[in-house]
Amino acid sequence: MYQINENYLKLPGSYLFSTIAKKVNEFQEKNQDKSIIRLGIGDVTQPLAPTIVKALHKAVDEMACEKTFHGYAPDLGYEFLRSAMAKNDYEKRGAKISADEIFISDGAKSDSANIQEIFGKDNKIAVCDPVYPVYVDSNVMAGRTGTYDRITEIWSDVIYMPCVEENNFIPELPKKTPDLIYLCYPNNPTGTTITKEQLQVWVDYANQVGAIIIYDSAYEAYITEEDVPHTIYECDGARTCAIELRSFSKNAGFTGVRLGATVIPKDIVCNGVTLHSLWARRHGTKYNGAPYIVQRAGEAVYSEEGQRELKQQIAYYMKNAHTIKTGLMEAGYRVVGGVNAPYIWLKTPNNMTSWEFFDYLLEKANVVGTPGSGFGPSGEGYFRLTAFGSYENTVSAIERIKGL
Ligand SMILES: *Cc1c(COP(=O)(O)O)cnc(C)c1O
Repeated sequence: MYQINENYLKLPGSYLFSTIAKKVNEFQEKNQDKSIIRLGIGDVTQPLAPTIVKALHKAVDEMACEKTFHGYAPDLGYEFLRSAMAKNDYEKRGAKISADEIFISDGAKSDSANIQEIFGKDNKIAVCDPVYPVYVDSNVMAGRTGTYDRITEIWSDVIYMPCVEENNFIPELPKKTPDLIYLCYPNNPTGTTITKEQLQVWVDYANQVGAIIIYDSAYEAYITEEDVPHTIYECDGARTCAIELRSFSKNAGFTGVRLGATVIPKDIVCNGVTLHSLWARRHGTKYNGAPYIVQRAGEAVYSEEGQRELKQQIAYYMKNAHTIKTGLMEAGYRVVGGVNAPYIWLKTPNNMTSWEFFDYLLEKANVVGTPGSGFGPSGEGYFRLTAFGSYENTVSAIERIKGL
């Protein structure tokens, strides 16, 4: 008789977005005359840029011709894309990453979930709190997180690193020593970021205690400030302790197209075995990364026209972010994010809980956002708004909030 992976039963289930949908639907039914504006969108909304669409079309035509047809992609991904990434994402930033240390995939979400498979079951994980839920959930399914307390919403074997107003949303080095440290900057959900100097502290710490940092750089393209690193490999010593996740979703609108990459430097060695060789084996046997067509589209991201078009898209979202941030500040809210990320994280007023503020905003301003408590215990008392709506809706939503 087969058995199931009982770790799946431990997952508390994400009620966050289903609860939001339910509340919004109920409100709309009772108030059919009200127009609801959604500033909770966690997905890009601008269409693919013309240069990318052109590259997709061209690659599709190649697939229709015997001479230029492509079957299974190579294990690591196509050389043309890995070289473009090595050059543009790393060499240009003074970071030493070679094309054969980059593994092309179907997105950072699956990689961030799968990467834990190359590590032993007894590794202790550390996560920022609040956090992108995938990091914890994938470790729950692997049986690495201990027991769950439904009241505190805390796993017994996870090291939580609070990121709150009091520490400027930068985690302190944990008291218990972790083996795997998940960091994401610019951050989802807080929209905050880390300076190169602050990140260097983490790299030094990881090398010192023998931990691995899993660094999610999904929002790298939104960085506007000079001292914010675009990749963890700008830090000295990161080649021996850091894995980096890259995504084409938020910088180039590939959320529905699917493309990402995981970078594993060959210098990360555990008892004579490189992590690179483990991921290569896993990758080669289980996946073929992303389709040829999509990898050609990814290559187009790095072309001059592609870069120009994508900078405009990001500027569009960041204009929204600026509108939200300045509007909220004028209305007296305490706000972070929105400068190097499309997320704005506000402190709820009058000690409201995250859900109380959700209801208040929905009922009084007909604006939908995301309660901070949905991202972890330290998110309680905070609230996330996103810049992925249209400019017109963003302006109206902020006017309504200012009028409360
Ligand atoms: C959106 C997002 C990603 C992107 O995942 P894809 O699978 O590449 O679409 C990765 N990490 C974080 C924190 C995100 O918010």
